[in-house]
Amino acid sequence: MDFALTPEQDTLVRTVRAFARKELAPRSAGWDRTHEFPWDVCRRLGALGLLGFRTPIAYGGLEADFVSMGLATEEVARGDFSLTNVIQLAGLAGEILGASASPEVKARWLPPTARGDTVIALALTEPGGGSDAARLACRAARDGDHYVITGEKSGITLGTVAQAAILFARSGDAPRARGITAFLVPLDAAGVTRGALRDMGSHGTPRAVLTFDHVRVPDSHRLGAEGAGFYSVMRGFDYNRVIIALACLGAAAQSLEETLAYVKERHAFGRALARFEGVSFPLAEAATHLEAARWLCYRALWLADHGERHTKEGAMAKWWVPRLAVEAIHQCLLLHGHYGYTDELPFAQRLRDVVGLEIGDGTAEVMKVIVARELMGRESLPY
Ligand SMILES: Cc1cc2nc3c(=O)[nH]c(=O)nc-3n(C[C@H](O)[C@H](O)[C@H](O)COP(=O)(O)OP(=O)(O)OC[C@H]3O[C@@H](n4cnc5c(N)ncnc54)[C@H](O)[C@@H]3O)c2cc1C
Repeated sequence: MDFALTPEQDTLVRTVRAFARKELAPRSAGWDRTHEFPWDVCRRLGALGLLGFRTPIAYGGLEADFVSMGLATEEVARGDFSLTNVIQLAGLAGEILGASASPEVKARWLPPTARGDTVIALALTEPGGGSDAARLACRAARDGDHYVITGEKSGITLGTVAQAAILFARSGDAPRARGITAFLVPLDAAGVTRGALRDMGSHGTPRAVLTFDHVRVPDSHRLGAEGAGFYSVMRGFDYNRVIIALACLGAAAQSLEETLAYVKERHAFGRALARFEGVSFPLAEAATHLEAARWLCYRALWLADHGERHTKEGAMAKWWVPRLAVEAIHQCLLLHGHYGYTDELPFAQRLRDVVGLEIGDGTAEVMKVIVARELMGRESLPY
């Protein structure tokens, strides 16, 4: 076993941590207030190489390892949680388009997405239900050398500003997952409308409802074979769950560091808060939880880097780490007293941001169904 980072990973951590401290943290509360997506910072993420981790080198990416992507995500979250959504989406676009798109679509969309000039959203969830993700109502009907897409997608991160979406629709009569096909849909196509959602957190990367009214996309924009759409995205979901967990962990770790410093300086009853076990023990517990969570995450990414199955570990990380992060940030907020409850300090914003990822990309209940299936086989499935 070797837990050491490579020299390249070490440099990456130091570079991204400095960037997050200097360029993200000072502006994060502003994005929370204005609900504006910072395109200038998106391009900076691209210039730093953080949007090309999973994109083929031939299309402007790095084809980097998963552990490096996790390390960078954790560091970005220390400065601003919402921007980790951009890293995730660019990673999934690189992965899914890189594996399944036509050369024309790859050349058009992958280089600008790796640069941060464009964002590609992922449109799976529908108003009728997200957990039962294979039960899609959105349809793609063939019409000559085009498909005609009709339906609604809900809760789509960056759906307000993205230039394109990887969309999942039912294209045939096969039941459930086997009838689902993926497409790259430019969001300036005729028949697309967007409506912003007013979320509790991650205001810098707003979500949207996307409506598709007979939207025509050419055959070349189909991603993979008909009926293979669901399986292609699920492959990316396994590692992406760990990336989400590490984003939550980064926000919690930063909160913890700030609180450890604060309780040594703040005095009550004639002594530093840190001297009270009622203060130091919850912090010791949070540090223990985050440390354990970190190694679950990096082991899962290590498995991914070695081409090994990591479905169970990804689902474990996805339900457990956001919950630990919420608890840790909540504790840090409380230990800052009434200032912690104001928007002068970052804890309330971080708490609102991280709660979203207890739901986004699959709830804890759905993750536990996956863990149970990996442990006990299909006999454990409730459906
Ligand atoms: C911050 C955020 C970002 C998101 N980004 C995207 C995105 O970019 N693209 C996208 O397509 N979607 C996105 N989503 C949607 C997200 O994936 C869905 O909200 C999620 O899958 C849950 O679906 P639902 O909201 O329809 O809840 P439902 O499926 O209606 O579930 C409601 C409740 O019932 C529980 N439940 C459901 N089934 C079971 C079961 N079998 N056993 C026990 N409990 C169960 C759930 O855990 C949940 O608590 C995002 C959501 C959030 C909050």
